[in-house]
Amino acid sequence: MPSCFATQVPHLLELAPEELARWFQQQGQPSYRAGQLWHWVFRHRAESFQQMSNLPRQLRQKLQQHFRLWSTRRLAHQQAPDGTEKLLLELADGHAVECVLLRQGERRRTVCISTQVGCAMGCVFCASGLDGVVRNLTRGEILEQVLQLQRLLSPEERLSHVVVMGMGEPLANLKELIPALDLLTSPQGLGLSHRRVTISTVGLPSGIRRLAELDRPYHLAVSLHAPTDALRTQLVPVNRTVGIEAVLEAVDFYFEKTGRRVTFEYVLLGGVNDSPQAARELGRLLRRRRPLVNLIPYNPVEGLPYQEPDAARVRRFVQELKHQGVEVQLRRRKGAQIDAACGQLRRRQATSAKG
Ligand code: SAH
Repeated sequence: MPSCFATQVPHLLELAPEELARWFQQQGQPSYRAGQLWHWVFRHRAESFQQMSNLPRQLRQKLQQHFRLWSTRRLAHQQAPDGTEKLLLELADGHAVECVLLRQGERRRTVCISTQVGCAMGCVFCASGLDGVVRNLTRGEILEQVLQLQRLLSPEERLSHVVVMGMGEPLANLKELIPALDLLTSPQGLGLSHRRVTISTVGLPSGIRRLAELDRPYHLAVSLHAPTDALRTQLVPVNRTVGIEAVLEAVDFYFEKTGRRVTFEYVLLGGVNDSPQAARELGRLLRRRRPLVNLIPYNPVEGLPYQEPDAARVRRFVQELKHQGVEVQLRRRKGAQIDAACGQLRRRQATSAKG
């Protein structure tokens, strides 16, 4: 792997489809070569250009001279007994991001990917934003996380879902995220249906509206975490200038434009936002929107004062919401043994590197 870092040639996954098509044209190659190349990368999980046996040998050499297939290096790989695996990837400039593979049942293979190094949103319970944001990831770096995780699958396993719930705020980096997702959902990439891609946002109204206008019916999840502005501003500082009302108006707009119901995420923090009263307020707030609420028991982060909610309170919270006609999913904690809450592994690595 180090050999690919020694060269400064461009990363293949940074290229827009038109750019790649142009490159093939310049090499005097037919246009179907681009399709063949992506097929090797995404479907055959090729490790190198040399493996691409239906491309002429000379062309493979040219590709090798002009592009690198990989731009990241594995710094850490953790595996949990429940099948969850997590990678810490070093980017070409030395920064690191996390991504996770989740296995559910026989078929469901979900990858959870990051969109930024760090995060600027500053949610007080989250490990990703503790040191702020460093930079946006490029489209190639976003795509490469998917490919790196795909390499962990057995040949019989197929990647089925993508969730953009790793480090960073996806709607703050739509410029790079959308081209990456476009390739994953195109027949040339993984051919995933838009419905199998979930973008999770802290709730930036302008970003939600932009995404709605783009007319790509991805599943949108909005991290609400509190039923009132006072509590939400404590937990999600960007709420101070945004406010729940503006988030909900943008969500309604998304629904009108795409016809897709939005999920609300709610991290349950023991003793903070998990009271029966909070559940009733949340129900009242969302009731008329045929809401789907995804409850996430807190995954404790070292050094932060928040705790997992106790089981009885979680049950009561669920009951209260259901009582108000809210559809509720309680997300099972996966990969808790491997620092699976976003940002934790990177932090651990950074802290131990600092000594
Ligand atoms: N910026 C996006 C994506 C972040 S991660 C967003 O805010 O939605 C996806 C979800 O995990 C968010 O709802 C986030 O609040 C939640 N989360 C972050 N840290 C967590 C932790 N330690 N335990 C449980 N959920 C966490």
